[in-house]
Order: sequence, then C-alpha cells, then structure tokens
Amino acid sequence: MSNYLNKVLKDTKKKNLKEPEFLQAVNEVLQSVSPVIDIHPEYEKLAILERLVEPERIIMFRVPWVNDKGKVIVNRGYRVQFNSLIGPYKGGLRFHPSVNLSIIKFLGFEQIFKNALTGLPIGGAKGGSDFDPKGKSDFEIMKFCQSFMTELYRHIGQDVDVPAGDIGVGAREVGYLFGQYKRIRNAYEGGVLTGKDVMYGGSLARKEATGYGLMYFMREMLAADNKSLKGKTVIISGSGNVAIYACEKCQAMGAKVIAMSDSNGCIYDKSGIDLDCVKQIKEVQRGRIKEYLKTYPKAVYMESKGSANPPIWSIKADIALPCATQNDIGIDSAKLLVKNGVIAIGEGANMPCTIEATEYFLANGVLVAPAKAANAGGVATSAIEMSQNSMRYYYTFEEVDKKLEQIMVNIFNECKNASEEFKCKGNYVVGANIAAFKKLAEAMKMQGVV
Ligand code: NDP
Repeated sequence: MSNYLNKVLKDTKKKNLKEPEFLQAVNEVLQSVSPVIDIHPEYEKLAILERLVEPERIIMFRVPWVNDKGKVIVNRGYRVQFNSLIGPYKGGLRFHPSVNLSIIKFLGFEQIFKNALTGLPIGGAKGGSDFDPKGKSDFEIMKFCQSFMTELYRHIGQDVDVPAGDIGVGAREVGYLFGQYKRIRNAYEGGVLTGKDVMYGGSLARKEATGYGLMYFMREMLAADNKSLKGKTVIISGSGNVAIYACEKCQAMGAKVIAMSDSNGCIYDKSGIDLDCVKQIKEVQRGRIKEYLKTYPKAVYMESKGSANPPIWSIKADIALPCATQNDIGIDSAKLLVKNGVIAIGEGANMPCTIEATEYFLANGVLVAPAKAANAGGVATSAIEMSQNSMRYYYTFEEVDKKLEQIMVNIFNECKNASEEFKCKGNYVVGANIAAFKKLAEAMKMQGVV
C-alpha cells in the first residue's frame, strides 16, 4: 500500500474515531483501490482520496412529535449529503433505533460507489433517524414522518437530493413524507422522493428491484463460474423488502429457499419456504417471522441470542443471501458457512459481511457478490422512477424489469473486467470498488477543486 493511502487511512481514523462502521467501509474501499492509486500519482496532489472520504454536507436535526398518549417524543434526524459528483444526492432513509452518525456515514459512503456503478447520473447520500417504527400506530408513524419532513424539506429537491426507503422506511413512510413535502412546497415535485406507490408517481417494479437485481447479479456471477441457481438451496437473512423479493426471484430461477429470518430469529423449512405466507406475515400483518409456524408447524424456529452469530448461518445451504443489516456475517458465521459447503454469498444488505468474513470466503474459493454492486438494482430503479417522473410517463413492469436486468448485467461485467484488469480475477469485491472509484476519480479531476 502506498504512503499516500496509508496517510489518508490514518488521518480518516483520527478524524472519525467514534465511527466504527464508517471506518470499516472506508478501509475496505481504500485498500482495494490501492493498485489504481499506484498508477495515478497525481491523485495525491489532487487530494482525491481526502475529498472522497469527507462528506460535502452533514445535516442533523431535532424531530419532535406527539405519541398516541399525548407525550412529546424527541428523535434525532440525519441527512448526509456525501457526494454530488455525478448527479443529485441520492440514497435512502433508515428508521431504526440503532441509527447514528457512523451508520449513516457508512451508508452514504457506500452509496457513492454503488450509484456510480449503475451508470446513471446520481450522487451519494443517506439519512434517517433513531426512531423505531416497530409497535407504533399508523397515526404515530404519520406524525413522525411529517415532523421529519418539516425539517428535511429545505435540504432536498428533485435536482438537489432525492431520498428513498431503507430499513424501516417502505411505501407507507414514503407516502407520508411525500404528502408533507408536497403540502409545504405547494407543488407536485414527483422526483423528490423515490419508492412512492405507483398510484401517485412511483415506478412499477421498484418494490421488487433490489431483490430481483441481486439475483440477476448472482445469476451472472455463477454463470461466469459455470454454475447456476437451478436446484441450489438458499438461506436468506431478513424478511423485509430486499429479502422477500430476492426470495421470489430465487424461486423463479429454480432454487429452493429453505430459511429466512427477522431480528428475533429464523425459520427453517426444509421443504422450501412458502413466500406467500411470509408476505402475509410481514407485508400485511407486520408480524414476526415466528408466526410462520402457525401455518407450517413442521418448520423449525431458532431464536437469535444477540446479534453475534445469528442461527440462520448454521443451516447448511449452497448459497447465503444476507439481506437484513450490516455485519450480519462475522468470522464465526463465515467459518460455519464454509464448513457447510456454501459456494456463493450475495450481499442484499449493505456491508452485511465483516472484512474478516469476506476475506475468509474469498480465501476459501467462495464467490462473493458485493453489496455495492449486487444490491444496486434498487437505486438504479429509483433513478428510472425519477426519469418517469420527469417525463410524466409510466413504463410497464416488464419494461422496468428489462432495464433493471440489463443494468445488473452491465454492473457485473464492469466488476468482472476491473477484477481481471487488476489481476484479481473472480474477486468482485475489489472489482466493484475499483470500477466505481475509477469513474469517481476521473469525474473529480474534470470538475476541479470543489
Ligand atoms: P426492511 O426494513 O424492509 O427489512 C429489514 C429486515 O432486516 C427485517 O426483516 C428486519 O427484521 C431485519 N433486520 C433489521 N435490522 C436488523 C438487525 N439489527 N438484526 C437482525 N435483523 C435485522 O429493510 P430492507 O429490506 O429495505 O433493507 C435491508 C437491507 O438492504 C439494509 O441493509 C438496506 O440498507 C439494504 N438495501 C435496501 C435497499 C432497498 O431498496 N430497500 C436497497 C439497497 C440496499 P425486524 O423486522 O425484526 O427488524
């Protein structure tokens, strides 16, 4: 690693000591772009890396709201507008009690690279709040979203910053956020938020896009290794938006999904998960995955005991798709998966594997579809939603799905080509980082010191 790279890593650590997730994301990216830095000594003079790791703007704000008992609650809101090199800031909002600045910065940083890989004109951002939607009434969710948007609206816009969903933010929350934005602005600016319902400006296939996109990437990655999804067993962590539609596409591609989870535990159904039942529990009743056993008493339920080593990763399967949250697979889970013969990992969630786990997979010949590339289908389809809003037009489901599939094939090829060019064939983690970094560094050179 060059002195320049070492120095930037050291300085970033010093400046962001209390942000472990952010430092983890920066470490992974910077170390893997080392060979590009080596052939571009001018990047040091231009401070390319220093500019990439420093957000353009961080916004933090108070979100006061009144719960159903009449008590005032105060949450903290965030929007990190990380990088607008190649388009308006773009990235989701996460509502979860674990949200803090480190998590939003790591997500925003990853988003810059992911968005660059899509080939579409979108910059990188992320936001959210430590608000916990679980157990809240629909009315409380609406009041929180309205208060959140009452501050956020002044920082966003369809050509400025375009938020979307993430953990805890789905079509319901986007609806309330959009309604409040429209009321304050007294204008219908459809492209200011994505992940909207199709009824008022959303895109068909946006809901499915991240999960479907993950499986298009997985299909390409397996095919490059003369493998396919047909007949493979699959385990998927999470049972939210990404997990459900990854499962749907997996099944359509002939694989058998045998386990899914939520933050309390996982279900294992060796005859194959009934996705309609999971959708009913999660999308309609907003219940717990354990309730699957009411319909399928022969399935097994394993409780999660804390966040380390979730039980789902002890189930033997060919393919593992972490689609819940960051650092879901640590080194112990990675060792178990390898011991049980896993052949491929598809990262539906952002940074779901620790650096040690990823290195262990790669060292043991397991294919890894990295989050930045493999889950980029969601944001790519959000960009397609923005174009439809600008055109005041709707594509059919098939049209959007076709565009999504082509984008995922292109992203896979970019990762593959970069991994080959920089002599790490088959390492798509490094391939994705390099392919995105090359675009960003060149765009930065072209736009001067800003
Ligand atoms: P959802 O809120 O729809 O679902 C999240 C799922 O993960 C739920 O099953 C949830 O369980 C579980 N989960 C969340 N936090 C934890 C935790 N700390 N420990 C264990 N399980 C947890 O979110 P999404 O499906 O939208 O997002 C999942 C991941 O995919 C995130 O990493 C997100 O950043 C990433 N992603 C999402 C995109 C999208 O388009 N939605 C696009 C690209 C990436 P429970 O219900 O018990 O909390």
